Order: sequence, then structure tokens, then C-alpha cells
Amino acid sequence: MSRSPEMQRSPQADGADAGPAAALAFDGRTRFTYTGFAARVLFGDGSLAALPDEVERLGARRALVLCTPEQREAAERAAAQLGDRAAGIHDRAAMHVPLETAIAARDEAARLGADCCVAVGGGSTVGLGKAIALTSGLPIVAVPSTFAGSEMTAIWGLTEGGVKKTGRDPKVLPRTVIYDPVMLETLPAKIAGPSGMNAIAHCVEALYAVDANPIVSMIAEEGIRALAESLPTVIDTAVTGEQRRAALGLAQYGAWLAGTALNGVSMAIHHKLCHTLGGSFNLGHAETHTVVLPYATAYNREAAPQAMQRIRRALGRFGDGDAATGLQALARALGAPTSLREIGMPADGLDRAADLAVQNPYWNPRPIERDAIRSMLDDAWHGRAPR
Ligand code: NAD
Repeated sequence: MSRSPEMQRSPQADGADAGPAAALAFDGRTRFTYTGFAARVLFGDGSLAALPDEVERLGARRALVLCTPEQREAAERAAAQLGDRAAGIHDRAAMHVPLETAIAARDEAARLGADCCVAVGGGSTVGLGKAIALTSGLPIVAVPSTFAGSEMTAIWGLTEGGVKKTGRDPKVLPRTVIYDPVMLETLPAKIAGPSGMNAIAHCVEALYAVDANPIVSMIAEEGIRALAESLPTVIDTAVTGEQRRAALGLAQYGAWLAGTALNGVSMAIHHKLCHTLGGSFNLGHAETHTVVLPYATAYNREAAPQAMQRIRRALGRFGDGDAATGLQALARALGAPTSLREIGMPADGLDRAADLAVQNPYWNPRPIERDAIRSMLDDAWHGRAPR
């Protein structure tokens, strides 16, 4: 079974039996390989104030600040903090990094003589920084404003003619990440819920990864716990003040852990399906993850019992029943979509989606069977209980 370059790490000699065997508590017997990554992380309320020092720490003097058009104001605040270390603001980041967007941003960085990028935003903005870094090697300081987790990974993506290419390259891994919960204060509930579920998906798949290891499994379980506990408060607009700030901080901590888990081990059927559905049917990234996750989890239920136990345990009050139904209950509690139909998937595309999902499949704890995948997609389209 093939491994896609971006979601699957290099095959490891001992990987085949390390995944499902990564037990609830490490018993000292499993062989594993763990690679640590040296990103510097600043965390907490007010940490954005350290941005100029962090840019200086990289030896940079002219930072290009990146953002989406919608987040121009947040980028202007970051540029104001940077003072004369800001070379300019480039506000053209877009979902899935279209090649022409990447070329325009690279040209702008060169024109302004930028020697680093400050990415203020979600996965799309960090992705644009990575596209610049890929050819120029410019270091990235990431200031995340969603829970996508891209800031912790060496995975890049570029879309050309509707086809998304992805890969791994250590030079795109942001050198410094500043997690300031203040960046999340403007995040609307309808983006926050799915974005949080996207982060949980990284943790779920890390727990049954072919190359799972005890460190990443601890990180992943704690990531689910932090997100499941905080997200219902994050999306509750009636909660304000100190309680809200604490929930944003806890969710951001969970997103950091989730990004770390995504970078640390290989992903499986869930990420393959989301990649296929998002790329071929132009569905929203975080929304697709939100809908598919309970079904992908149910697909692996029998094949990865220890992972299921850890997911349930981490889901807290949502984990009373089964891991898959708990994840769907959490999505519902967040007011997030729970069917492919709701997010614009055409019913007549399900056969093609199943065909694509079984082509070059990622390793998965349960073998990938076309009929079972097709029937899972049917359940997901209708939003039925995950079987
Ligand atoms: P996004 O970055 O596209 O943001 C979604 C929308 O939310 C945008 O309109 C943005 O302007 C807005 N937004 C973001 N933060 C906001 C805030 N605090 N307040 C108000 N509005 C805000 O979405 P995303 O889900 O963060 O990222 C999705 C992209 O990231 C996809 O292309 C996906 O493939 C990629 N991704 C990559 C990795 C990786 O490791 N390479 C990991 C996760 C996601």
C-alpha cells in the first residue's frame, strides 16, 4: 500500500507493528522511532508583543506580513508591532495555495527585499508562507488564528489547475510560532467549530498511525482532551471575559498538540478521504474533516481498539458511548455540519469519491475496501449515525 508524501512519513523498519501496539500506557516493549522538530513556541495571552524580538532573533530585518484579505486588520496590528522591521503586508492568501498566488507572493517578497515572512492567519496563510519558503528558504514566524495546525508541520501544498500537490520539506517548517489566544477572539463560531474538529482529526489518526509512538500518542490524546473540553465554550457567544479567554487558550493549546501529532506520524483513511473529497469536489477543508471524522473512526473501530479507548477517554463527557458517536456528538454540540450533503457534496459524486479513495490508499489499520468505503460515504452524505 502506498504512502502519500505529505501525510505519510518515511517507512520505518519497525513501523508495521508499532502503531496499534502503542498501548494506553507504554509497557516498555514496543519498538518505535521518534523524530523531534525544533520549532520555537511562545504561548499565552500577550505573547504577540514578542514578535519584533522573535524576528530579530532570526537575524531578520525586513519581514513580509502575510494574511488573507479578511484578516488585513490583524496583519496591520502585527506590522505596527514590527515597526521598521515590517517590509510590507501581502493580503492575498487563499485556500489550498493556488500556484499563481504563491508566485505573486514570492515576487512581492523579492521586490521588497524581505528576509523573513510573518504569517498571520490560519492554514491558508501559513501555507502561503510555506510556498515562499519552499523556493526562497525565507524563515517563517507563524501567528496562528485558527486550529488547523499547519504551523507545526513541514507539509506544504500547492494547487495548480485544480490539482493539489503536497510534500514534506523541513525548510517550510515555521521557525517560530507565537500562539496568542487574542488572535482567536474574532474567530466566528462557524469557523471555530469545524477548525477545532480538523485539529481533533489529526489526533485521532495519530493514535492509530502505522508509525505511532508513545510520545506522539500522549500528545494526541491530550490534544483531543483540550479541544473537546474547550470548544463548546469557544463557540458559545454568551461566554465572555476571563472564562472565554481561558477556553480560547485551552483550544489553542490543543491545536498546537494536534499540529505536532500531524507532523510526527503518518495519517490514514480519514485524511486520504478528506484530501480526495476536498480536492475533487471543492468542499471546505475544515468542514469536510468535521463530517468525515466520525465515519472514518467507525471504519477503524475493530482494527484499532486501544486508539478508540484513548479517544473516548479524551472526549470526556462526549466519550460516554463509542469514539465515533462521541466525535459526532461533539460536532453537533459545536453546531458544525454532520453530513456531506450540507457542505455541498453532490450525491452523484459518491461513486467517484469511493473510486478515488481506494486509489493509492494510505496505510490504514483496517484494509481499504471499496464497497465499505462507498457505504461509509453514503452514511456520511445522509448524516446517519456512524456504523
Ligand atoms: P483558512 O486559513 O483558509 O481560514 C478560513 C477563513 O477564516 C479565512 O477566510 C480566514 O480569513 C478566516 N479566519 C482565519 N482566522 C480568523 C480569525 N481569527 N478571525 C476571523 N476570521 C478568521 O482555514 P484553515 O482551516 O485554518 O486552513 C485550511 C488550509 O490549511 C487548507 O488549505 C489546508 O489544506 C491547509 N492545512 C495545511 C496543513 C499542513 O500541515 N500543511 C494542516 C492543516 C491545514
